[in-house]
Amino acid sequence: MKRALVSVSDKTNLVEFVSGLVDLGYEIISTGGTKKTLEAAGIKTIGISDVTGFPEIMDGRVKTLHPKVHGALLCVRDNPDHVRQIKELGIEYIDLVCVNLYPFKQTVQKPGVSHEEIIENIDIGGPSMLRSASKNYKFIPVICDPNDYDAVLNEIKENGETSLKTRELLAAKVFRHTAQYDAMIANYLTERTGEKYPEKLTLTFDKVQELRYGENPHQSAAFYKGMHPQYSLANAKQLHGKELSYNNIQDGNAAIEILKDFEGKPAAVGLKHMNPCGVGIGETIEEAWDKAYEADPVSIFGGIVAFNEPVNKAVAEKLANIFLEIIIAPSFDADAFDILSKKKNIRLMTLDTTLPVDTTYKFTNVNDGLLVQDIDDKKISEEELRCVTNRKPTAEEMEQLLFAWKVVKHVKSNAIVLAKDNMTIGVGAGQMNRVGAARIAIEQAGEKAKGSVMSSDAFFPMPDTVEEAVKAGVTAIIQPGGSIKDQLSIDVCNEHGIAMVYTGCRHFKH
Ligand code: 5GP
Repeated sequence: MKRALVSVSDKTNLVEFVSGLVDLGYEIISTGGTKKTLEAAGIKTIGISDVTGFPEIMDGRVKTLHPKVHGALLCVRDNPDHVRQIKELGIEYIDLVCVNLYPFKQTVQKPGVSHEEIIENIDIGGPSMLRSASKNYKFIPVICDPNDYDAVLNEIKENGETSLKTRELLAAKVFRHTAQYDAMIANYLTERTGEKYPEKLTLTFDKVQELRYGENPHQSAAFYKGMHPQYSLANAKQLHGKELSYNNIQDGNAAIEILKDFEGKPAAVGLKHMNPCGVGIGETIEEAWDKAYEADPVSIFGGIVAFNEPVNKAVAEKLANIFLEIIIAPSFDADAFDILSKKKNIRLMTLDTTLPVDTTYKFTNVNDGLLVQDIDDKKISEEELRCVTNRKPTAEEMEQLLFAWKVVKHVKSNAIVLAKDNMTIGVGAGQMNRVGAARIAIEQAGEKAKGSVMSSDAFFPMPDTVEEAVKAGVTAIIQPGGSIKDQLSIDVCNEHGIAMVYTGCRHFKH
């Protein structure tokens, strides 16, 4: 008679699966809680203690860690010496293993959970069995995912056993599962100890979905998300519209990251190709949108819009007139949703702004490597700014400078932003020289540049950017300072009555 060892924390579909095994002639060995569940459903099982000849001890810490179990799982069945030992020691074969692990992740996420409880949820016996049997996949199928129950049962029903190919697929899944499980434990303890940039980096991500394609149609792609839900695109819910594309996810993420810097007042962000094309803040969400739109009515076409307050009917009516890829907001009023969901292709997403904000790492990949750094969550207050010109900014200019500084942080370097009345009026992004970025921003602003303020993500290596600002009618500038030619830029400002402040920090974004 074949024997299956079943020991699971997640009892989803357990009874159905084990009934199927019993029907196929398997004898079932199980551990405490699993045994109880199965017996409540009328399925007789052999207790693990009857196999090991040893009681489950230390509150279940030691249940299956025994040579009678691991000998059975690791025995190479076509090795005569192994088979002889099995016989001599009275070990009986185990032909199928079904194990899933203590819910470590769910335990860590439980509100108010104690460290002791988390430690108790580190499964030891489960991964050991999974690993032993998977190492021996040539002979033993190992199931760690309830989603695989049906396929395995069907295969045994049809062919009397699983194929080697199936067992290999199952073993690969097991090792991914236990690797991720250990990584979660490692990450939890590493975070507790506060160690930064450890010698081994253990990343854990779960697949959200496979994507139709990547950045281009000839690239395949998938989207994975982290283990702990954050205030992020990865945890936004899609209510309507086509499936998100790879580029949508990148752009949506960029729009949300900008939004995070504009808490406290209604804000709207328009975004295209990873750069903001319009950012507006207002007394109402409608005013914020009007500004974000006015900022650049051309670029917003085919763009992404994110709001930090619910989208109401008035805003929805305006949005419905433009071709947009995605609208992201904390929520949509019912009538706003009705208006927008009439458009088949637009993606409507809600954002959970109450989730924690990620404070760990920012990752960028290079070929064959990963760059890891802190998240750029640097904020600056008026008191930290240093005025370097004869004229100090007026209160209104100061408000606009701080606004423009928040936006420029999110624009690809070299970045220049012009702003006025709490809206961007010109954005110069991703240029290979700074004055080039300034010229783009100024040209886009056109007449509106007069009386605007300018922000620059890094210092001016030459006075040429300030000279362009003067010509355009900019009245105040914010920048990090720190160039050896700073004085030349200051001189130009003083000559033309422009106020300039230094932040002392830069916001490169490559
Ligand atoms: P049960 O609910 O059947 O009592 O326990 C099932 C869980 O125990 C499974 O998640 C399995 O991975 C885990 N488990 C099985 N054997 C051992 C062991 O020897 N020690 C520990 N700590 N966990 C085990």
